[in-house]
Formats: sequence, structure tokens, C-alpha cells
Amino acid sequence: MRLAILTSFFVLSIFMGRSVWVDHVASRRFELLSQVLRAHQLEVKFNEVEESSVVGIRELAGKVSQFQFEGLSKIMDPSQTAGRYLRVNSKEIELFYDADSKHRSQVTLSLNSADTDSATGAKFEEFSDSFWASVNPGLLHQSEFSIFRSRPRPLEGVRIAIDPGHLGSGENGYWDLETGKYIEPDPGRKISESALAQTVSLNLAVKLRELGAQVLVTRPEDHPAQSNEPTRTDVAAYVVLDFLRSFDSGWFDEYLNKNGDIIGLEKSPGFLERLGDEALKKAEKGRVSDYFNRDELSYRAKLINEFGADFSIGVHFDAYDSKLFQTVSDSVRGYVAGNVSPRSFVTAQQRISVLRNWLSPAQWYGSVMLTRELVRGISAAAGVPIRTSETDFGAIRVEDGVYARDLRLNREIKVGYFASLEVLNYDFPDEFNALFDPHWTSGALMQSRRIDEIVNGLVEGLLRASFQKISAQKVAKNGL
Ligand SMILES: [Zn+2]
Repeated sequence: MRLAILTSFFVLSIFMGRSVWVDHVASRRFELLSQVLRAHQLEVKFNEVEESSVVGIRELAGKVSQFQFEGLSKIMDPSQTAGRYLRVNSKEIELFYDADSKHRSQVTLSLNSADTDSATGAKFEEFSDSFWASVNPGLLHQSEFSIFRSRPRPLEGVRIAIDPGHLGSGENGYWDLETGKYIEPDPGRKISESALAQTVSLNLAVKLRELGAQVLVTRPEDHPAQSNEPTRTDVAAYVVLDFLRSFDSGWFDEYLNKNGDIIGLEKSPGFLERLGDEALKKAEKGRVSDYFNRDELSYRAKLINEFGADFSIGVHFDAYDSKLFQTVSDSVRGYVAGNVSPRSFVTAQQRISVLRNWLSPAQWYGSVMLTRELVRGISAAAGVPIRTSETDFGAIRVEDGVYARDLRLNREIKVGYFASLEVLNYDFPDEFNALFDPHWTSGALMQSRRIDEIVNGLVEGLLRASFQKISAQKVAKNGL
């Protein structure tokens, strides 16, 4: 017993010693970065940008309790990356610019600190029955659903955004070569993921409009949605922002010794200025693959936000190798926000976006519901197995077919429910042959039995999701 106490005291003192050291290095790093900002006369710009990222987040104050917030952390933040920037107690949550040291506060939001929900009597440790009814009423009333879907225009008044994945094939397959998202087992026989996704999206849009929905397809052509050419992407703007915001990521650590001092700073006047110039030079290499892509996705998120979609669907397909057929794995699944990785938590704007999902559980669980229905719809209509593994590349399972993954669109779409789908693998010989059409690269609206099956599955999923959302609105109005 005494030994155990002594041991734990010993361990505790080591831990505390280390945490003081970590705190010292983190706050030293933050000071040094601030010097870099000042050296480039960028501190004002930095503050402006960071302040603008907070817009809209304050409305989410008081929505969840500490227990609910921490309960969601298993999905949102399993690596406990966010925790390095957050201070949470029963009354409020505070987000900091600087990891670990937590010296410079960005925003503080109140949490729901009452014990019970006065409307429902539910304890705030859990979500109330009415909360669940609002996001996941299920299809208990089968007969009502049958009536709903037999109407001529059941999706009247529903706004649906469809985002065909990637950038289009481009002239002479330029974008396919750039992204590697295609399979060409023999010369001239090629399926481009972006063309396939676009074909499915356009076919889906036609059917949804027939059912009464208002539909936005973010990339209706076989080239990027934004009108900008990659050569016109403002790399410098991104670099400056990344540079300024990446206080806590690896690149800056390269210039620090283990005490948190910049290596060689005193020996080399002008070092801070050169750091910025070096970052710019490095970034030019990522102009197309990284910065143009970011512009594109942000542009599409903006289109969807302005459209005010009730439901948004990202359409993607899978392949393992652009040259070969495979025989192993095929599955349908979709992604909702969550599973924050250290890499995608480097900028304050990313942190705010993550926090927005985390503080909007009704919207997040609604996205889970939408994803579930679409995945089931595709599986039933196209015979694709639903993915059930614990993890899926950089994603963790929420439930079978629904995974949490930190994607740019998941972070930047602020309206309605969003599901990012991997519909199926197109690199099986049979699947390839069923899907293949030589006209795809032109981006034309093609029909095939296989595409019909996929589209029908998506329509069915959307009908079920819409019915649930409409049922939930009734529950909200009339009670359970
Ligand atoms: Zn994709």
C-alpha cells in the first residue's frame, strides 16, 4: 500500500515536471511565432482573419451541457488533439490559439449548465427523448411513409445539394492524371471517378426534381466548379495564413531546439523574415494538388451554404490502383464530421469549424441519419455490402456504414445534414464492365442499368431521410 502511494507520487512528480516543461516550450513557441508575425507586419491581418472565423459560432452557445460535449469527444476527438486547445467546465468552453500553454484565448462559449431540461425533464447528461425524436424518429410509421412516398411530389420544398467528387476529367484527362482518380486497365478503356460521380449526380438531380425537390449540383460540368485556373490560385494568401496559423504544427518545430528556442536565431539576423520567404517557396509545389483543391472545395461549400441545402450529398467512388483490377474489397459507406486529426487542427479556422460540428449535435446526428439511409438505400438497390470494419482509412465507425472523418466539406458546410459517400468500388472487372461507357469523359448525361440502380438507391435513401426530417418537425410542433 505504502509502496503504491510512493510510486504514484513519484509518477505524479515526473508527470508534473514534464507538463511544466511542455508548457514552457509551447508558450515560448507562441512568443516566437508572434515575433515572426510582427517581423512580416502581419499581426493585424492574422487577427482579422482569425476573428472572422468566429462568425456564427457564438450562436451555438448554451446548446449542450459539459456532459454531452464530453460524451461526443469519443467520436469528435479520439486522439485528444482538440483538448490541447480547449478548457471545458460545467459553465463554459474556451478555445485557445496556443496548444497546451493556453495563454491566448480566441473565443469563450457558455454551456448549458442547468441540471435538467425544463421542457422535457431530461437530465443534461444525456440527450432527451425529444432530442432523439428530432434527429432520428425512424420509420416506425411505415404506413405513413408509404402514403408520403406515393404522393406525386413528396420532396416538394426540400432543398438538396449534390457534390460530384473531384475536379472533372479535364481536357485530355488533365485532372484525372493530376488526381490519379481513374482506372484504365487497357488503353482507351477508362473510368474516371469524377466523370462517374458527375453522371450519377446529374441523373440523381433529374429524378429528385421530378419528385419536387429543388436541386443544386455543385459541379455540373466535367471541369472544376470554380472559374479560376490553378495558375491564378492565390498561393501566397494561403501560405501566409497557413504559416501564421500553423503555430503548433511540425514545420515550425524544425526550427526549434528542445528548449523551445529558435535554432541559430541570434547568429543569423533576418532569420525570422527568411522563415516566411522559405514557407512561400515550399508552398509553390502544392499550388495545384493542395491550394487549388482547397479553393475548389471551399467554393463548393460556399455554394451549398448559400443554397441553404436541407440535405447535401458528396458522391465518390473507390479504386485501389489506376492500372489494375482488384478482387478483394467492395463496400458502401459514408462520412460524417469527426475524428479530428492533429494535421487538420492546425489553424484556428479549422478549430472553429470542428467546434461548430461538436456544438451542433442535432445537426451532426441528423447527418448520421442521412448517411445511414443513403448507405442502406445504395446497398439494397445495387447489392453492395455495407462496410462494418472498426476503421476505414482515416475514419472511425459511428455505426455500420457510417464513419467519422475530418473532411474539408464536413467542416465547411454549415447548413442542413451532410453525407459524404463512397458508393462502391469501380475496379472489379464485372463492375467496370457494367459501368463503363466511352462517352463519360465528355461529361455527358449517360444512362445505364447500373447507374439507374445506384441512383434509385440514393433516391430511396433521400425519401426516407426527408420523411424522418418532416416527422421530426411534426414532433417538434406537437410533442412526442
Ligand atoms: Zn473520391
